[in-house]
Amino acid sequence: MSMLVVGSVALDTVKTPFGEAENALGGSCSYASVAARCFVEPVAMVGVVGEDFPETHVEFFAGRGIDTRGLTRTAGRTFRWGGEYGFDLNSRETLFTELNVFADFRPELPAELRAFDHVFLANIDPSLQLSVLDQIEKPKMVVLDTMNFWIDGAKDALLETIRRVDVLLLNDEETRMLTGEANLIKAGAKVLDLGPRMVIVKKGEHGSLVFTEDFLFSAPAYPVELLFDPTGAGDSFAGGFLGSLAESGDCWDEAHLRRAVIHGTVMASYTVEAFGLGRLAEADREGVEERFRAIREMSRF
Ligand code: AMP
Repeated sequence: MSMLVVGSVALDTVKTPFGEAENALGGSCSYASVAARCFVEPVAMVGVVGEDFPETHVEFFAGRGIDTRGLTRTAGRTFRWGGEYGFDLNSRETLFTELNVFADFRPELPAELRAFDHVFLANIDPSLQLSVLDQIEKPKMVVLDTMNFWIDGAKDALLETIRRVDVLLLNDEETRMLTGEANLIKAGAKVLDLGPRMVIVKKGEHGSLVFTEDFLFSAPAYPVELLFDPTGAGDSFAGGFLGSLAESGDCWDEAHLRRAVIHGTVMASYTVEAFGLGRLAEADREGVEERFRAIREMSRF
């Protein structure tokens, strides 16, 4: 089993009521790849960075056993994103999005990466997500994440991408925005009509709602006490979710799907405990399974 992640590799500037970080390693592809690597190998990143991207960051990924052959370095500046959270860490304001080298990135996947079978199209321009998907020979499962930025700015390409994937991840605000429906239960069902077999609506500290034709699953969040910075929580969730399914080998078994949602939840819980990727990268499988059991115990009745 293998997993390919295409998405942003970024330098993030983030402010929360508990501190701030400037030009820290971030990006949807980065968080998702590190989270996935806890479950599956190989995990390969596909993205682009600029001349200003520190080589130590590439070494960080390689040191986690992540395949960086699809991570291109090109002339120009690295993608940069800035965001600020208020006291309610569930809502954030984007201060700036500088696409930089991502503006005209058209990846050519090395031949060895085309055979990867689990694909996570992490948050980035939907046309870029599609161009990567088109190069994969036989995808077993394709998961898509996106953001208000693309729902606003590239809706047609996004709808086309949504039609081609198995699982779509959205947060509650994006779900309402995409469907124009305030009620999340109705909105989730409307998103299923757009094509995917499964829709996961992430609700931050309130957990997630999973929609399929066959079942509705409500997953709690892990009760984190050391909450510092939610940036990357969604991407870590996705990496843990698909990594867990790739490991299990049977993507459409209901028990595996439910377990994968909880594995995603656990990976997000590590990410929010610190700024950047450091805490997530420290997560080991034993600790992950301990948090998994804690969630099961907490929600048993
Ligand atoms: P999350 O908190 O899971 O939604 O993801 C936050 C990460 O997404 C940050 O590390 C950003 O670098 C990255 N990001 C923010 N905006 C965009 C965008 N428009 N396209 C791609 N990645 C983005």
